[in-house]
Amino acid sequence: MELVIENLSKTYGNGVKALNGVSLTIPQGMFGLLGPNGAGKSTLMRTIATLQDAGSGSITLGEWDVLKQHEQVRQILGYLPQEFGVYPRVSAEIMLDHIARLKGLANRKERAQLVEALLQKVNLWSARKRNLGTYSGGMKQRFGIAQALLGNPKLLIVDEPTAGLDPAERNRFYNLLSEIGESTIVILSTHIVEDVQTLCKRFAIICDGEVLYVGTPHEAVQMLGGKIWAKSIPKEEVDDYRERYQVIATNLSEGRLFIRIASDENPGNGFTPAEPTLEDVYFRAISSKMDLVTL
Ligand code: ADP
Repeated sequence: MELVIENLSKTYGNGVKALNGVSLTIPQGMFGLLGPNGAGKSTLMRTIATLQDAGSGSITLGEWDVLKQHEQVRQILGYLPQEFGVYPRVSAEIMLDHIARLKGLANRKERAQLVEALLQKVNLWSARKRNLGTYSGGMKQRFGIAQALLGNPKLLIVDEPTAGLDPAERNRFYNLLSEIGESTIVILSTHIVEDVQTLCKRFAIICDGEVLYVGTPHEAVQMLGGKIWAKSIPKEEVDDYRERYQVIATNLSEGRLFIRIASDENPGNGFTPAEPTLEDVYFRAISSKMDLVTL
């Protein structure tokens, strides 16, 4: 099954054009949607999740028309929104059982088996009796995934799931998502380059409602081969460098400022060639949308 988005546009009532001719084909596996805040990621996720209308364009999931056949699509869709509330005084086990019953699973024994399997999968079995209000950020996210997986979805959408997680929790969450990605289409929206680097076979960069790049992380990095240059400079000169070069990253280390620039030609002036990274691809893309046309 594939998710195919064609020429999708959305303008909000206040005139903000949140999506502008977005076309993407997303096969099974982990797909990263990488973009800064305000890029249009949540708008796209909510539209795919049948929670809001598009202005124009089409989305199909296998044989279903996502923009019209909401009920059918919801049967095969799992969605973990950016912010989701939990009932703080209810345990994970009771909550999942309750949602499974709402979803029509009437047989108590089958429900118990399903809930146990899900809690084991997201590594919350030993914490199943604890009230959700006592869970850490990472545990809540994993509970959210268990909830989203209840209907055995063919498409799982997770919106900015790793923001606010500590490194250990993030790692655990990565492992969980990549396991799910083996049998499901998973769309992961994020502004964290590491999420894409770690998890995604394919990804898109989205900015100002437009897709700037689609491909594999490896291809994206290779395209910048020979075009990234680095230098350490006195801090006070950074504005001057920003005027003269396409500065894509600045890092302060031991009191010195290291800058990375993108340039097709050797810029001279003490710059040395640097190995491109996915972060370079991302920052170059969003710092200058025009440049990316030739990436
Ligand atoms: P992201 O998830 O990448 O941060 P969003 O889809 O939330 O991006 O937002 C894209 C743009 O649309 C932003 O400029 C945002 O302010 C605007 N926007 C989002 N939701 C609404 C809304 N309900 N009404 C008006 N503007 C909105």
